[in-house]
Amino acid sequence: MNRDTVNILCKLFDLDEKVVKFVHSKEKLICNKFEEIDQIKEYNQYKVINSMQEAKLSSTDFNWTTGYGYGDIGRDKVEEIYASVFNTEDALVRPTIASGTHAITLTLSGLLRPNDEFISITGSPYDTLQKVIGVKGDREGTLLDYGIKYKEIPLKDGEINIEEVLNNISRNTKLLLIQRSTGYSDRKAITIDHMKEIIKKIKDKNNDVIIMIDNCYGEFLEKLEPTEVGADIMAGSLIKNPGGGLALSGGYIVGSSKLVEEVANRHTAPGLGKDCGLTFGTTRNTLQGLFLAPHVVSEAVKGALLVGIVYKELGFEIVPEIDDIRSDIIQAVKFNCPDKVVEFCKGIQSASVVDSYVTPIPWEMPGYEDKVIMAAGGFVDGSSIELSADGPMRKPYYAYYQGGLTYEHCKLGVMKTLNNLYTKKLIKKLS
Ligand SMILES: *Cc1c(COP(=O)(O)O)cnc(C)c1O
Repeated sequence: MNRDTVNILCKLFDLDEKVVKFVHSKEKLICNKFEEIDQIKEYNQYKVINSMQEAKLSSTDFNWTTGYGYGDIGRDKVEEIYASVFNTEDALVRPTIASGTHAITLTLSGLLRPNDEFISITGSPYDTLQKVIGVKGDREGTLLDYGIKYKEIPLKDGEINIEEVLNNISRNTKLLLIQRSTGYSDRKAITIDHMKEIIKKIKDKNNDVIIMIDNCYGEFLEKLEPTEVGADIMAGSLIKNPGGGLALSGGYIVGSSKLVEEVANRHTAPGLGKDCGLTFGTTRNTLQGLFLAPHVVSEAVKGALLVGIVYKELGFEIVPEIDDIRSDIIQAVKFNCPDKVVEFCKGIQSASVVDSYVTPIPWEMPGYEDKVIMAAGGFVDGSSIELSADGPMRKPYYAYYQGGLTYEHCKLGVMKTLNNLYTKKLIKKLS
């Protein structure tokens, strides 16, 4: 790092020079990992370009219609391109899907009928989904309330417990849910290789059961996506990885035609399915974001590695480890202390471009059981492919870091977190 850069960082961002130099010295330890990340980026970039060309994307696809939205060509192109990128028969991609939780909820409620059972085979699902299912919070309107049966099978040593899964599949088991990303837990993301092996074992024994993936934060981390190793249907958020920071809102569902149709019928109405629904002029952002997504994801992954190495070198436990295969963009740091989580998140907020001057505090976010602190100063509100961090206020006090549209921004974020912890004396020594 040259002198000019050190100077501008210290001068413009109020950073202690020791912090800047510390982060820079640790960066050197991960540079050798960047080549592999770049290879995955390059591969996925070509995949996306090809899908857009194959769909004959044209400038008129960025126009939009009104009313029912019949014949919204741009919307249909977006869905064709998503299906192609994720190698599935069909896709539902809509700005009216409010979030990842909504996309997953639509998928579950579109596919499951009363008395059907579904099993989460990666342990407890993401916080907001527990309320959707009905295992936390009010029962009214939840899947359990609709007579759907639910079980979960915890991971064993961080991996799917295949024996238990196979023993638990019964005649009523309609669907198995795999959450790829760590969520607010202390486990690693499920890798594509592991998924492939598990799905094969399940399908060999029971070919009818639907394998569904919560792919939030997983897109473009590896060369293959879960739907390319046997998953039947998958859902995610456009304000995470595949939106590339440009999508304004939305969610996607990709999978076989039959399953996507059932989900589309739930999204609009039976009989209407995918044929209705406006895109409100969002197709340009959605697709330009998808075009940039492999690149943006690679920047975010490099940022996650930097957070990982810096805090590991300071003696904190991190998940995943530096040498683990990354299958999501999250870097968790175990702080064992609420103040450190708060100061870490304040650091990320202060590095943001939007709302850098506000101070995040833990609050009762809708859908979450514990208070959560969120640092999110994105161009798109709540977008966590942009530089962001959060942590539920519960033991053992993990901070979860993710996103960053450019690696430089990630680096500034890391420096701001460390500067905060250091000047507040929550970290004594930088060595
Ligand atoms: C973010 C996330 C969700 C929910 O997405 P929202 O857009 O926040 O509703 C679900 N599952 C996982 C693993 C996530 O990371």
